[in-house]
Amino acid sequence: MTLELTPTPLPTQAPTRPGHGDAFTDHMVTLAWNPVDGWHDRRVGPLTALPLHPATIGLHYAQVIFEGLKAHRQVDGSVAVFRPDRNATRFRASARRLEMPELPEELFLAAVDDLVGLDQHLLSDDPDLSIYLRPLMFATEPNLMLRPSGEYLFLLMAFVAGGFFGTDPFAPVSVLVGRTHTRAVPGGTGDVKCAANYGPSFVAQRLAREAGCQQVVWLDALERRWIEEMGGMNMFFVRQGASGPEVVTPALTGTLLPGVTRDSLLTLAAGLGYPVSEERVSVDQWREESLSGRITETFACGTAAVVTPVGRVHDTDGHWLIGNGTPGPVTTALRKALVDVQHGRTPAPEGWLRPIPPR
Ligand SMILES: *Cc1c(COP(=O)(O)O)cnc(C)c1O
Repeated sequence: MTLELTPTPLPTQAPTRPGHGDAFTDHMVTLAWNPVDGWHDRRVGPLTALPLHPATIGLHYAQVIFEGLKAHRQVDGSVAVFRPDRNATRFRASARRLEMPELPEELFLAAVDDLVGLDQHLLSDDPDLSIYLRPLMFATEPNLMLRPSGEYLFLLMAFVAGGFFGTDPFAPVSVLVGRTHTRAVPGGTGDVKCAANYGPSFVAQRLAREAGCQQVVWLDALERRWIEEMGGMNMFFVRQGASGPEVVTPALTGTLLPGVTRDSLLTLAAGLGYPVSEERVSVDQWREESLSGRITETFACGTAAVVTPVGRVHDTDGHWLIGNGTPGPVTTALRKALVDVQHGRTPAPEGWLRPIPPR
């Protein structure tokens, strides 16, 4: 199947205070793959609908992977993308896990350069706004045999992103400990960004909402006691150690998504002088140490929502507060350190910002 870009662009919009995921920018980049030509037919054009055969393998067997990364307006007026090389590498890992062709990093980065170059004028200098980039790759061959596709389409689209959880991007959320559903299992796909991980999580998100919470906390599938992630974000805890606060995040056991934000915060926290550790944290420990005052802060992090403080935790037998339910000092300091680096307000570690000139 070849991709044809129809000449009619889809409606796009760039409202002054967009939500998350609907204020699409004007363009998209597409690149096709087949075993004869490899990656070929690179196009940069208007964001358009795709013609899809009803037997498109990606629709039936979920050979679909994606990424999420952001471009930020810098204090000097330029625009830079945060650590896109990490997303390019993770995209390749996702492709390997799903028997899909790996997109070379330089093609991934060239697509980012093209789209951000073309659409960056939609990004105002409001530091709460960003351009969220969504790379996607899916199986396009029309065939219903249960086997990998022989053809794929990579595409990159974008939207202007505002705050993820409503108007105050730093309002603490209430979370429900997920006791009924699991996100990831050993040997499964929890450590890659494939589409099939997300649809099945919606029911747990609805249960969380019905319990008055904004997010679900995922526990490990085997023992149902180790904290893994929160929604589509990684988690952090601040624990009071002998010589001050320590920053703790669940270890990457193979069922957690290795977040770029997680990795960045580990680096920045160490740079701010906090001892950091990656270890298993049980939900019992979380509750007991929150109540005893040893754990004083909890937050989630990811590209979309940046750093989101957790204020209250609901479990089947009651709920507890984290600290006094408001954003803690370490959470606030880490969020500021990250946002300052993303916007060029403080020097970024080598290679973290990819400046992209306008086209
Ligand atoms: C994308 C994602 C994250 C966050 O990763 P970042 O690279 O920081 O955006 C965390 N958990 C899950 C399940 C994710 O899909």
